[in-house]
Amino acid sequence: MFGFLSKSFSSIFSSLTGHGKLTEKNIDESIQKIKDSLLESDVPYDLTNTFISEIKQDVVGQKIVNSMRPGEQFVKTVYDRLLTFLGGEYLQESFTFQIPSVIMMIGLQGSGKTTSIGKLALFINNQAKKRGKSRKILCASVDFYRPAAIDQLEIIAQQVEIDFYRSVSNDPVQASQEIINYSKQHGYEILIIDTAGRLHVDDQMMIELDEIQKIIKPKYKFLVVDAMIGQESLSVAKTFQDRIKFDYAILSKMDSDARAGVAFSFRYELKKLVLFMGTGEKLENLELFRPERIAKRMLGMGDILTLVENAEEKIKKSEQVSLEKSFRSGHITLDDFSKQLSMANKLGSLSNMIKYLPGMANLNVSSAQIEQSEKEMKKFRAIISSMTLKERLYPKTLDTSRKQRVANGAGVTLADVAQLLQRFEQSQQFVKLLKKKKYFN
Ligand code: GDP
Repeated sequence: MFGFLSKSFSSIFSSLTGHGKLTEKNIDESIQKIKDSLLESDVPYDLTNTFISEIKQDVVGQKIVNSMRPGEQFVKTVYDRLLTFLGGEYLQESFTFQIPSVIMMIGLQGSGKTTSIGKLALFINNQAKKRGKSRKILCASVDFYRPAAIDQLEIIAQQVEIDFYRSVSNDPVQASQEIINYSKQHGYEILIIDTAGRLHVDDQMMIELDEIQKIIKPKYKFLVVDAMIGQESLSVAKTFQDRIKFDYAILSKMDSDARAGVAFSFRYELKKLVLFMGTGEKLENLELFRPERIAKRMLGMGDILTLVENAEEKIKKSEQVSLEKSFRSGHITLDDFSKQLSMANKLGSLSNMIKYLPGMANLNVSSAQIEQSEKEMKKFRAIISSMTLKERLYPKTLDTSRKQRVANGAGVTLADVAQLLQRFEQSQQFVKLLKKKKYFN
């Protein structure tokens, strides 16, 4: 996500922060580079210019803050402005659906509407669960054009354990009324209705959607936008806004190679909030669109918060505390190293983690390298688990014959064991360095 943009921002910023002093020349150069990166990320030309001129104004009118290094101050200026662009004044986090509600999904065919229904239902249920509640959710479809669209929704409903209703009528307008009646009769708190999309916006589609919305009177209209389509999706969104109007957008396929253009421009161009983003094909792959985090990711500052959140959900607190202690002390054992590896394992694949780490955008890590690292991690875990506790705490006691025993136990070669010990040694050096640099204060 935002790979290209964050890579270029990271490199612009790291070259700036390297300078003790900022000159007009290096500011100008950086601004020019930001402009090039935005254009290359498919941000519309006019919008790029607006963004750049606002940054320039901010920089000119700025007082130097003593506690900040000049480069850092520039990064902060860009970050603040980006946040405003992305709709940072809204509190997406506090968003909850009102009860009862009808939610209408609109968007082009293939944009991710049907999948997003499952994702939204999971989101609503998870939110309710956190408050010790459960929600009675129904979904239904009035998409009678795409074969199997309705079956697809039925399967998704089963997967996320919500109810599904198949209308008797296959006329979109009549079916809408039928669905509303059914939902009311059965006391559903949330009704999510899927509508038909076409491959391109057309008049007939808009007329039909308008008739449907008059009947179902949705409290929320979500436009699902495929982030991969790029700038074209902005004009699609404009047409939907003119003809049907919508409340919020869901940007789907943000996990793809989508350039940052749509995410960057949507709020500014449409004056509508992006509330969610789809980050994968699985139904749990829906995140609130949090401008702060997105801005940080775009700027290559990583998204430590998301990582921490994922970690907290998946890792037992105690494991974290003991590891943190070792990190702070500047000394880790092989046992810690092994815990670190299995924590990483619980967090998901390395490729998934890497995008959240600050500065990682600037690393050129290929998927082959990631795959290789993941294989190594597995092997390392096997090796460590073949060691005795004493060996894990004092790996220096491992002589060749013990190493051979460990290798046999783990089903690997002696060279693999040596490689692990070398990696571990590097990690130890790294933790010592972090301690020295007061990374953990
Ligand atoms: P619809 O025609 O608008 O209902 O679109 P679908 O929900 O059928 O989605 C079209 C395709 O996009 C399906 O293959 C989905 O699995 C895929 N898809 C939907 N959302 C995402 C997402 O956030 N990420 C990725 N990678 N794929 C998605």
